[in-house]
Amino acid sequence: MLFFELALVFICSYFLAILASFFNVVIFRTAREESFVGGRSKCEHCGKQISWRDNLPIYSFIMLAGRCRSCHSQISRRHFISELLAFVSGWFFYFGLLHAQALQGLPIGQLIVYFLCFFVLAFIVWADLQYFLVPDFLVILLTIFTVILLFLTESAWQTALLAVIFSCAVFAMIYLVARKFLAKEALGLGDLKLMVPLSLLLSWPLILVNIFLAFILGGIFAMIALVTGRKKFGQALPFAPFLVLAALISLFYGKFLIDWYLGFLL
Ligand SMILES: [Zn+2]
Repeated sequence: MLFFELALVFICSYFLAILASFFNVVIFRTAREESFVGGRSKCEHCGKQISWRDNLPIYSFIMLAGRCRSCHSQISRRHFISELLAFVSGWFFYFGLLHAQALQGLPIGQLIVYFLCFFVLAFIVWADLQYFLVPDFLVILLTIFTVILLFLTESAWQTALLAVIFSCAVFAMIYLVARKFLAKEALGLGDLKLMVPLSLLLSWPLILVNIFLAFILGGIFAMIALVTGRKKFGQALPFAPFLVLAALISLFYGKFLIDWYLGFLL
């Protein structure tokens, strides 16, 4: 039985690597404004189409020793590493389920959807760090997962909807004010769209903690980047990583932070 269980975990983890490979294509082609549906992958150097057996996640990279079959130039390692991390994350999830006491009380269906949400969030951060963009495709996928979670956890959809309206209103206001007075975009529209699934994930009032923390974290980082000379004033910073980091903190410690803050006031 254990053999079959491990084989199943292996297959699911490899499926995550395939998903990672697909997400990389989505991110790369969104950045170049190409369609990611259809069209075979090509070598970045010689332009030769890559056959399916040279395009298997993780396996092909190792078999080809990281080089293109026809022109022998190096294949970007980033994709290989993200596929490998995706594969490893599947195993972490499995061993986490076996050993982490905190996880054992929760229904497996919820845990899997939460895991998929974190998985997509990781690639949203990855896309913003690489290309300063948040692909619509990933935001839509994440929204679908968060809606499924709403049903699975039987959360009140009204409060979740309130959180969506509130956060989108705040971000739309910042976006419009910055465009009018600074004549540039302080936030991307991608960040605004990302607030939809994040609001569904956190609901009200945790979304407040998310927005508040994201601006604090982003502000601190921007200041460090300015002082150390890594960024000039007015230069763009990717904001999605701060939104996602703040969302994770809010998800796990949001209630604690709200209590702490209210205790501080009263
Ligand atoms: Zn090549």
